[in-house]
Amino acid sequence: MTVKEEMSLKKRSLIVDTEDEDDFEKISDEKNSDVIQDQDSSQQPVEDQSSGILFYILERHQWMFAIWLIPISICYDIFMWFRARWNYWTSNHLAYNGKAYAKHLHREKVKDVQRQVEEWKLSGCEQPMCTARPGWQSITLQKQHYKDRMYNIKIDMPDILKIDKENKFVTVEPMVTIGTLNGFLISYGWTLPVVPELDDLTIGGLVMGGGIESTSHKYGLFQYICRRFEIVLGDGRKVDCSPTENKALFAGIPFSYGTLGFLTCVDIDIIPYKPYIELTYHNVQTLDEVVNKFTEVTNDPEVDSVEGHMYSLNTGVIMSGKFVDQVPKGAKYNVLTRWYKPWFYKHVEKYMDENVQKVGNIEYIPTEDFFHRQNKSFFWMLQKVIPFANNVIFRYLLGWTMPPKFSLIKLMRQKLLPQEFKDHKDMVLQDFGFELKDLKHALQFIHEQTEVYPIWLCPSRHCIRTPELEEFSGFKKEHTHIDIGVYGYSTLKSYHPIESQRRMERYAIDHEGYVAPYAETQLTFEEFNEMFEFPLKNYHKLRKEYDCEKAFPHVYEKISKLGRS
Ligand SMILES: Cc1cc2nc3c(=O)[nH]c(=O)nc-3n(C[C@H](O)[C@H](O)[C@H](O)COP(=O)(O)OP(=O)(O)OC[C@H]3O[C@@H](n4cnc5c(N)ncnc54)[C@H](O)[C@@H]3O)c2cc1C
Repeated sequence: MTVKEEMSLKKRSLIVDTEDEDDFEKISDEKNSDVIQDQDSSQQPVEDQSSGILFYILERHQWMFAIWLIPISICYDIFMWFRARWNYWTSNHLAYNGKAYAKHLHREKVKDVQRQVEEWKLSGCEQPMCTARPGWQSITLQKQHYKDRMYNIKIDMPDILKIDKENKFVTVEPMVTIGTLNGFLISYGWTLPVVPELDDLTIGGLVMGGGIESTSHKYGLFQYICRRFEIVLGDGRKVDCSPTENKALFAGIPFSYGTLGFLTCVDIDIIPYKPYIELTYHNVQTLDEVVNKFTEVTNDPEVDSVEGHMYSLNTGVIMSGKFVDQVPKGAKYNVLTRWYKPWFYKHVEKYMDENVQKVGNIEYIPTEDFFHRQNKSFFWMLQKVIPFANNVIFRYLLGWTMPPKFSLIKLMRQKLLPQEFKDHKDMVLQDFGFELKDLKHALQFIHEQTEVYPIWLCPSRHCIRTPELEEFSGFKKEHTHIDIGVYGYSTLKSYHPIESQRRMERYAIDHEGYVAPYAETQLTFEEFNEMFEFPLKNYHKLRKEYDCEKAFPHVYEKISKLGRS
């Protein structure tokens, strides 16, 4: 049976009996009942009466629970800080049979993954495999129910193995988080060319599920700064892939979501760390200005960092930055992550004011602070969880404790809330990719569908490592896509979590754009194929070549709501 047939079958059976369809009807009913309630406000929704005080508090005053997560988060961060350094030190200073201990330990861990795959084979290969990492630890808000019906493989690999200063790369295991890795590299005078926001994202997640940052216009997505993947295949073999070895597999691993093999090690480029960034805030007042400014700064070879915040359909601030060694005398200096400083997006918003612009729109920020700029407020999502965390009194007293761990907030909601409260019906959390030429129209369309602000904008080039790898990519090196990050709560009455999402996805397909698969998508299998037609050609070939059909689910089954259920 072909993948397409399998998916159509699955889809048909889902339509008969899945919670998706139930969800769809439930949400439609709720939307309709919202309208009825508006007309007759004396009518109380039945759900509210039965849900009780606990759920009311969790829904409206999440902070009462979230503040208890703060001390746990602090202890966890301190533990991870020491653990990374201790493990690196011991494994690089101890020897095992004359060889570095780090190498020995890593080999043992890989053997353990291979052993588990062998056990799966002996068990009859009835369920496909996936990683055993619990869903709540992952940053994605998707519900990973599929883990319950698949064969779980433990990948306990949280170590940084080696910094090769001569050849400028770092070797890491997949469970290392980006925050731990980058803090560690900085202490040695290095950094990564692309440092995605949110410290808890893992290297495995960023390779398999994608990562982007404001330096991506220069270095591309996170996958483009990786030079080697070590993979345990579905038959238990360990293979290396790179631009010269198993190059089709190397090109196919990013965005495969662990459905071609288990990632056990990655070599990632490093660059010398420059301690400051000179950041210029450009105020924009029309969508044409937005497009022109992005075109200008993205193509300026002197510019190291480009991103933008839109605060309404037409107005926003675009930031361009250059990493530098020193702060010039008399320049404006901002230590952005001091505990009492306002949330970054609030700080940037001030530059929409002409008077602020007149005083000066350039400031110098320590680079490490810049890397963490959106962490304290999870872009702007913390506002909903702890709304007063940007209040000046709170910042001075308790700002140093922020933010609580994203995964713990997710766990809290999963454990304490009943099903009907777990889904945020008005929440939008999606990244769309469009070519720069389509940015204006795409912003207008997304505005009509959601009216969620701020919006994050981040350009990215396709920095394919070698010309030979271009045959596996639908993109050319010079193509620039712009990521439109829509994170927040829509106040539009017409917003519908499924229908609006489906309209935006259709729009993306029709305009040669795409949605980031980490978020909730409503794509059918046919639409998924339409959106990612080119990379899926290589993907399907690889699944045959490496015998993945039984070993791993199809990527669609992991990322789409319909496929995942
Ligand atoms: C709220 C939010 C904010 C975000 N912010 C950013 C951002 O600022 N910048 C950015 O670049 N991205 C961002 N993302 C996207 C994020 O980078 C991706 O969702 C990423 O995949 C999440 O990483 P994770 O560590 O949570 O991985 P997971 O969700 O745990 O893993 C992602 C996929 O990779 C697979 N996988 C992981 N490790 C392995 C392995 N060793 N072997 C095989 N398969 C594996 C998992 O099975 C899963 O299918 C954000 C996402 C969310 C939901």
